[in-house]
Amino acid sequence: MRVTAAAATDIGLVREGNEDSYLTEEPLFAVADGMGGHRGGEVASQLAVETLEKLFKQGAGDLPDQVQEANRVVFERSVVDEKVAGMGTTLTAALVEGDRVRVAHVGDSRAYLLRDGNLRLLTEDHTLVHRMVTEGEISQEEAETHPQRSVLTRALGVETVVDVDDDTVQVRPGDRLLLCTDGLTSMVSVQAIEEVLRAVPDPQEAAQRLVRIANEGGGADNTTVVVLDFSDDGAAAAPNGKTAVPEAEIAPPPAGRPPRSRRRLPRKLLVWAGIIVALAVVALVGLRLYLDSQWYVGVSDEHVAIFRGIPTEVAGFELHHVVVETTISAEKAESLAVYQDRLGDGITAEDRDGAGAIVEQIRQDVEGMRQIPKPNQPGSTDASGP
Ligand code: MG
Repeated sequence: MRVTAAAATDIGLVREGNEDSYLTEEPLFAVADGMGGHRGGEVASQLAVETLEKLFKQGAGDLPDQVQEANRVVFERSVVDEKVAGMGTTLTAALVEGDRVRVAHVGDSRAYLLRDGNLRLLTEDHTLVHRMVTEGEISQEEAETHPQRSVLTRALGVETVVDVDDDTVQVRPGDRLLLCTDGLTSMVSVQAIEEVLRAVPDPQEAAQRLVRIANEGGGADNTTVVVLDFSDDGAAAAPNGKTAVPEAEIAPPPAGRPPRSRRRLPRKLLVWAGIIVALAVVALVGLRLYLDSQWYVGVSDEHVAIFRGIPTEVAGFELHHVVVETTISAEKAESLAVYQDRLGDGITAEDRDGAGAIVEQIRQDVEGMRQIPKPNQPGSTDASGP
């Protein structure tokens, strides 16, 4: 099977940087959508695709293993480099093996297959709203405009291990595969995406058209698309079917320590220095793992927000970061007696889902101003003893 690949990426109209990355190194293709403060998102998505590419070239394991390893690499960087603490990324990767395509996926970027003019979604979004849809809590329509639609339930680089979706699809000549970040799918309907893929034969033009309509739809996010056209090996090249693979506009990764001139140090001193560094790393990793297991709901930028970590700082280092900033006004929430004194200090949650539940409760209370059950009250009020 012959593959003709094209890609396009754009910052959009709202964001200050492009945190998406992509990879078009036949036979391996991927998109990644990074998240995290400062340059964290950029670093995460870029590190993920670079690691994937490197492992593939080394022939280390299969595609899901390589994604798993990329997860570990991004996680470890976020542990040791405070500037990018808490970063993460989506990753949707496609490996072409003859007439089969292996798809590995984490997050809310997507893979679609266009066959005979019909677009089929190959991946499942790892988002809170998708889970709510599958559990019948909200409809697909409600999900598309839900204020928390971008909250991920799974991302690369935020835990030591990640669950990787792994799927294989058979492809035929004439098939077209699309990999895209949510900048496209949150701005453009599936029908409109299908129309473009059907109507524009040249993959590079199709990729650019998709990015353009995402921006015309509002361009609220970075948009990245990779388009793969499959054709017969022996067949003449499709008209204008040259492989067009623009380089990703990616800043170089934060470099390691600059090389220093080597001087001989006493061996004993080196051993001790090594031990001290190792202990410091163990302590940092331990602290980070502890903080990562802590969740609370507090205030960020005058909005109710979900935080990871603990609501305090030590020697100027904040031991928390915002995971989700909601659209709920903190002022309104604090005008309710039940949250008045608590939101500012942070309301502790057992885990991420618990924090989400608290936010939902606050949202309902603020919107409905109805009878407020006290959150955090012990669940059981069963007074009868054994
Ligand atoms: Mg995005």
